[in-house]
Amino acid sequence: MKIHEYQARQLLEDAGVPVPAGQMVTTVDDAVAAASALLSAGAGRVVIKAQVHAGGRGKAGFVRLVDSVSGAREAAAFMLGNRMVSPQTGPEGLDVRRLLVAAAVDIVREYYVAVALDRASGRNMLIASAEGGVEIEAVAARAPDAILRVPIHPLGGLEPWAARDLAFRLGFTGRQVAQAAAMFRKLANLFVGLDASMVEINPLIVTPPQEGHPDGRVLAIDAKFSFDDNALFRQPKVAGLFDPAEENASELRANEFGLSYVALDGTIGCLVNGAGLAMSTMDIIKLHGGDPANFLDVGGSATEEAVTEAFRIILQDDAVRGVLVNIFGGIMQCDRIARAIVASAKEVGFRVPLVVRLEGTNVDAARRILEDARRDIPQMQSATDLTDAAQRVCAAVAG
Ligand code: GDP
Ligand code: MN
Repeated sequence: MKIHEYQARQLLEDAGVPVPAGQMVTTVDDAVAAASALLSAGAGRVVIKAQVHAGGRGKAGFVRLVDSVSGAREAAAFMLGNRMVSPQTGPEGLDVRRLLVAAAVDIVREYYVAVALDRASGRNMLIASAEGGVEIEAVAARAPDAILRVPIHPLGGLEPWAARDLAFRLGFTGRQVAQAAAMFRKLANLFVGLDASMVEINPLIVTPPQEGHPDGRVLAIDAKFSFDDNALFRQPKVAGLFDPAEENASELRANEFGLSYVALDGTIGCLVNGAGLAMSTMDIIKLHGGDPANFLDVGGSATEEAVTEAFRIILQDDAVRGVLVNIFGGIMQCDRIARAIVASAKEVGFRVPLVVRLEGTNVDAARRILEDARRDIPQMQSATDLTDAAQRVCAAVAG
């Protein structure tokens, strides 16, 4: 699960990581009010930032520094009125519903810091670079040595000496070292404590010298967090940050019915039981020249209603030009699928060709149900095996 930057900044604040003051707003007027409050409180500039679950906002024009109320109004109106397109969003972009209005800071240097699981060593890793602000993938490609990795001790966390050593190696000097080291340790603890799968601060910045901070302040000014869904049951604070508006509507509906559904961009809707069978079904569709429109696993114990819902979700996708049902009935009973097909044909109607391949538990009963309904579902073809099924559905969408 991903969260918004303004939510991640709150979690950072709660963990004692310094972040510039800011406020989340959803309208242009509220953005103007928040900006004007920050400006009158002494902020020289204000930064307006689109809150969407994707990065690359700066280059796309969705992070703007302004020094006046009218500038804030213009930036907020632009962001709330346009979809944000960046290399991380795909060409259709994302709708912007929320903005963060924060006090802007002056920047002497930008760093990158993240915590993630390193699968090779089986350890959590702090990843940092003095070349922050830009895309870290670009740094990794151009100058892999500019990215430093420090393993986090499974019991002890990031040890004080390791945090200070990293701060020195990144080039922090004077009183910045203690600030940066403390921040690294807090990020490592936050990652473990909140069951995060990714914590990324890009950029972490150093400000020019200020009163009380002769070497400048070390601050987090962007934050991208994601969390392990399987741990949400014990992280109510994190689970409460879920924003359904940022998720694919069909995937959410499928979740409610206990179906695993992932939207893809092909033309063949797939209804399958079991993740492994779903993968091989997609492979065999590809092998015969087709493109899956989705990955939908109804699992073993889905009810007839859940399977009917699965057909509704697949058929409401306008890109779907054919449907392949591929069921190997073990725990799932084929007759349940057959009844759902008949119910869906009555209720939603199959506007596209439907190819059905059923094997396993109760297959004879299932075949009888489909045979009896054949006149009502003229779009339906039965397949003898998986290859036959894939060939039929690929031919149907190609024709
Ligand atoms: P992203 O492009 O989606 O990663 O959004 P960021 O929050 O990282 O902002 C992009 C860039 O805008 C940063 O790397 C900074 O260079 C700049 N920026 C963001 N906030 C501030 C700020 O408060 N002051 C200044 N001077 N620059 C900022
Ligand atoms: Mn960033």
